[in-house]
Amino acid sequence: MTRGRFAPSPTGRMHLGNVFCALLSWLSAKSKGGEWVLRIEDLDPQRSRREYALQLMDDLQWLGLPWDGEPVWQSQRGHIYEEYLHRLTEMGLTYPCYCTRADIMATQAPHETDGRVVYKGTCRPKDVISDAENDVADTACRVPTATNHISPSIEGGVGVGLATTRLIVPDCTIPFTDGHYGQHDINLAEHCGDYIIRRKDGAWAYQLAVVVDDALMGVTEIVRGRDLLLSSPQQIHLRELLFLKRKGENGKRKTNSLTPHPSPLTPHPSPLTVNFLHHPLLCNAEGQRLCKRDKSMDLGYLRDKGTSPQEIIGLLAHLAGLTDTPAPISPQELIPLFSWDKVPTEDILLDHRITL
Ligand SMILES: [Zn+2]
Repeated sequence: MTRGRFAPSPTGRMHLGNVFCALLSWLSAKSKGGEWVLRIEDLDPQRSRREYALQLMDDLQWLGLPWDGEPVWQSQRGHIYEEYLHRLTEMGLTYPCYCTRADIMATQAPHETDGRVVYKGTCRPKDVISDAENDVADTACRVPTATNHISPSIEGGVGVGLATTRLIVPDCTIPFTDGHYGQHDINLAEHCGDYIIRRKDGAWAYQLAVVVDDALMGVTEIVRGRDLLLSSPQQIHLRELLFLKRKGENGKRKTNSLTPHPSPLTPHPSPLTVNFLHHPLLCNAEGQRLCKRDKSMDLGYLRDKGTSPQEIIGLLAHLAGLTDTPAPISPQELIPLFSWDKVPTEDILLDHRITL
């Protein structure tokens, strides 16, 4: 059974770009007879508001995009993320980082100007076992670990507020196939380096929360904007660390005594594999990705001026290549028309000829 998900951050009113993502994700799951679950990604206490989340749910219902089951709120799941962080720490895969943003920027090579910040491992413990010394035999990707290294940032709460917690990543290529954008091979050490799984202020980082939630919620299909395409290997790697059963455990995961050295991995029954399907982005007339500043694309504005949900869905379905004209239509009517083959891979310009 396919289980798709929509995972918005409640930091403002939904705009057409968010609705486009919700629609494609909903159609992708429903066209396979699957379920579609909702997760509110409200981890950022400064920017997330409960009233935005409630408005978002109202907008989804209004659009004709109902979700299955109860929504999951990330702000209520800190104790779960804590447990999984603890597992990573017991595996010797985390360490505290005291670098400031300025420290990290100072280590960036001049060619790394695409907005990506690659952490060079300044605070990585010196006793990390190299790949060659690691006794992992069968895995394609060997994971370096810190010997007897316990992150002070999380053990007993000491140091929270001083250090971010980073995950040690292997220097190897993670291959993955996106269902819409094809094969990608990403080396995590080069792409991002050891990345943050808990912030200095104690807040949970996006990658850890997303991986844990997708796995525990039984999500089998992740549909989202192509701006997140290259974070997929990070999530695949983290999912393997947390949810692949280790040989010798006889099907029972030890919660408190994982071996410090990764042993050959065998698949955990479920949920192991996730299909990633990224979609092109909706861009404004200037060619920039739609954002919350584009008020004329905001559902509050469109609903207030009397635009119907079918008009919005009709326009988005047409832009997605699913229909020949932008005529009003409901999501339900689109289910038999849906195919990823029809969806373009190039970003979609919402120019001035397109009006609602
Ligand atoms: Zn550091």
